[in-house]
Amino acid sequence: MPEVNETDFAIVVFREDDGWDADVLPVAVTDDLKGFIRVLRQQPSIAGTIGLAGIDDYFFVAVRVVGSQISVLLSDIGAALDYPLAEQVLDYLEIPVPDEDDLDQVLPVGDLSIFADLGLDEMDLAAICSRLDFDSDDDPWDHVEDAVESIAVRLGFGPAMERALDTALGALRSPAAVAGEPVTGYEATFEPAMRAALAEAGAAAAAGDVPVGAVVVDGAGTVLARGRNRREADGDPTAHAELIAIRAAARAVGRWRLDGLTLVVTLEPCTMCAGAVTTARLSRLVFGAADPRAGAVGSVWDVVRDQRTSPVPEVIGGPLAAECRAVLTRFFGERR
Ligand code: ZN
Repeated sequence: MPEVNETDFAIVVFREDDGWDADVLPVAVTDDLKGFIRVLRQQPSIAGTIGLAGIDDYFFVAVRVVGSQISVLLSDIGAALDYPLAEQVLDYLEIPVPDEDDLDQVLPVGDLSIFADLGLDEMDLAAICSRLDFDSDDDPWDHVEDAVESIAVRLGFGPAMERALDTALGALRSPAAVAGEPVTGYEATFEPAMRAALAEAGAAAAAGDVPVGAVVVDGAGTVLARGRNRREADGDPTAHAELIAIRAAARAVGRWRLDGLTLVVTLEPCTMCAGAVTTARLSRLVFGAADPRAGAVGSVWDVVRDQRTSPVPEVIGGPLAAECRAVLTRFFGERR
């Protein structure tokens, strides 16, 4: 009986006046199909909103919402044997879950003409799905994201999808790219928490400490704990903003596991703090400015998304990056 989805990415694609754009969604939206559809419905878009979720590097689910009409595609019917989302797609399509013995190849189900009006016909989409057959020696795709990217290129939003996949899958991005990217949609929802973290950074600077601030927020964005760099104030080499906020959050919720919570910090964490994010089982890490010298979340190392650690938290870099960097530049400028 399927129990969990191992979602690699969930991406919403929408069209505004000047073209297609793509944003990363929290992977938890794929916990159930109806919730996924509900989130897509909330995103205004010309020509309909598209959701693409890649699960366990094995299959993808495509959903398109145009007005009241909903189209759904599952890239491989066999996934319904193991994954709740795939099973829910079959349920939605009123197709019975197949017998394992009847499955000898990848078989997409649902609306294969889901993107036909956008230039990707049924045959071509079926061909993309069938190349996700890992048992086949016939030039298979390496990864589900290749299939999704191929769809995106055909539909005319390849670059937007590539950026979204980079964010979702934690591909190493240059610090300049992190700092320079426009912050839109989903990422912008973390700006209020980042402002609270910036206030902590300001307080650290006033006390003579390098201005780094952090907060821990719950799913509703409520600040549960705050921390600021206190290395000088406490004479403690480990008194980084993140560790102080993580400890305070654990006290606030009365447990050491901080799953479901988000750490928001003004600067990309160091190796120690990145390790603490994993150790605390935080569900999400949001950082403002990248740290090209000592950052351990993509710049120099990538501790939190190392495949040997699990679970891997969602990582978002960039909200208010310019402001986060400016407080540091100002601090070091004044000291020189
Ligand atoms: Zn640190």
